Amino acid sequence: MLQSVPLSVIKPYYIQYACLNTRKCYSENRMNSSLQEFDPQVFEIANEDLIRQQDTLTLIPSENYASKAVMQAQATVLANKYAEGYPYQRYYNGCLPCDKIEALAIERAKALFNAEHVNVQPHAGTQANMAIYQALLKPGDTILSMKLDHGGHLSHGLPQNFSGYYYNIIHYGVSPDTELIDLDYVADLAKEHQPEMVVVGASAYPRLLDFSEWRKIADSVDAYLFADISHIAGLVAGKVHPDPIPYSHVVSTTTHKTLRGPRGAIIMCKSEYAGDIDRTVFPGLQGGPFMHAILARAVAFKEALQPGFGEYQAQIIRNAKTLADQLMKNGFRLVSGGTDNHLMLIDLTSITDKLSGRQAANYLEEAGITVNKNTIPFDKRSANSTSGIRLGTPMITSRGMKETEMIVIADLISEAIKQRKKASSRKRIREKVRELCQAFPIYEDLNL
Ligand SMILES: *Cc1c(COP(=O)(O)O)cnc(C)c1O
Repeated sequence: MLQSVPLSVIKPYYIQYACLNTRKCYSENRMNSSLQEFDPQVFEIANEDLIRQQDTLTLIPSENYASKAVMQAQATVLANKYAEGYPYQRYYNGCLPCDKIEALAIERAKALFNAEHVNVQPHAGTQANMAIYQALLKPGDTILSMKLDHGGHLSHGLPQNFSGYYYNIIHYGVSPDTELIDLDYVADLAKEHQPEMVVVGASAYPRLLDFSEWRKIADSVDAYLFADISHIAGLVAGKVHPDPIPYSHVVSTTTHKTLRGPRGAIIMCKSEYAGDIDRTVFPGLQGGPFMHAILARAVAFKEALQPGFGEYQAQIIRNAKTLADQLMKNGFRLVSGGTDNHLMLIDLTSITDKLSGRQAANYLEEAGITVNKNTIPFDKRSANSTSGIRLGTPMITSRGMKETEMIVIADLISEAIKQRKKASSRKRIREKVRELCQAFPIYEDLNL
């Protein structure tokens, strides 16, 4: 799947220029040494992670394998350029190629999400969210958002984060009975607290979000609706998840999760907020944009506009449902009883009260399966210990794995947790994981 992506033409071009122009003038300054030649120490560490990514199964739902073309785009000379400002309105000279790149990234993102306005400059999701709050709110305003230990994100009001520091945060969570967000309860909280903004979007919620209902709640108290689709942007772009764009005043997303692009973020909004959002990103919160990252975002949007992208996203969901079903057959309780998207949460207390999420994730890492610990709703343990683990299927789906492999993986996870005390069992699972990884290689011809 990853290998079918057309390769960028940038690399040969870059190499030509680098060889022609720098060898003569700068070789004594090491301008022309390769990473491997000049710094074998860091080269080895980077290579170690390439091997880790190839030889282990990653089920962290916020991660993905960006394509080779996306990674090549990030390694171009665009990283050298300052381009403060926006396309064709820069504070630096020499920005024509940057103008073309950013305009293209914006045009492709607009086509992909059908958005009125897009800002492609935020360095990361938290910075994008910061810009949205700062553009539309005043310090002290009230934000209604999801509780962190029920699946919300730190940029939605963690006291130690800028969002919790500058704004009055009111949280909704999931209902204790269904573990789903109870929209009537959210509407009651809105009525009681009269927020200036309602935030919908989470990092650990395994169900679909109906944004039209959220807009009704925001409208009932004359608040902005801000949809943070960082986790589900790929599903939305692939049209396998309800679309927030028609119903939200503003939408943010990272580009490196289900969307499978480079690290970074974008903001989408209705035209009337375009000026405020753009001024807040630059010069409000950031200086020069990372043009190499924006170039890579443009490539990722092109990939997401290809016909096969919707099928990839649909497969992520089919894989998640299969993995969830098999885990439940093996005796695990999943938060809310399953999943409708790319992720799920295992409630470990259904197996034993004695195993924390942190311990389970460490046992699984030894077996070659990478997951992360996560609180479950109404968790009795701290965020550092947790009673749950969070699993997602974007990366194993990028490798080309399907339902058959999901059943194998669910059984390996189950055995690794249940037989955790047996070193022989961990070793055997590690071998099986390695075999599965070898059958589904990443980056076939990628050499650092
Ligand atoms: C991942 C995520 C973000 C942004 O994360 P960064 O690490 O700052 O890029 C924002 N909101 C949600 C809901 C997320 O899951």
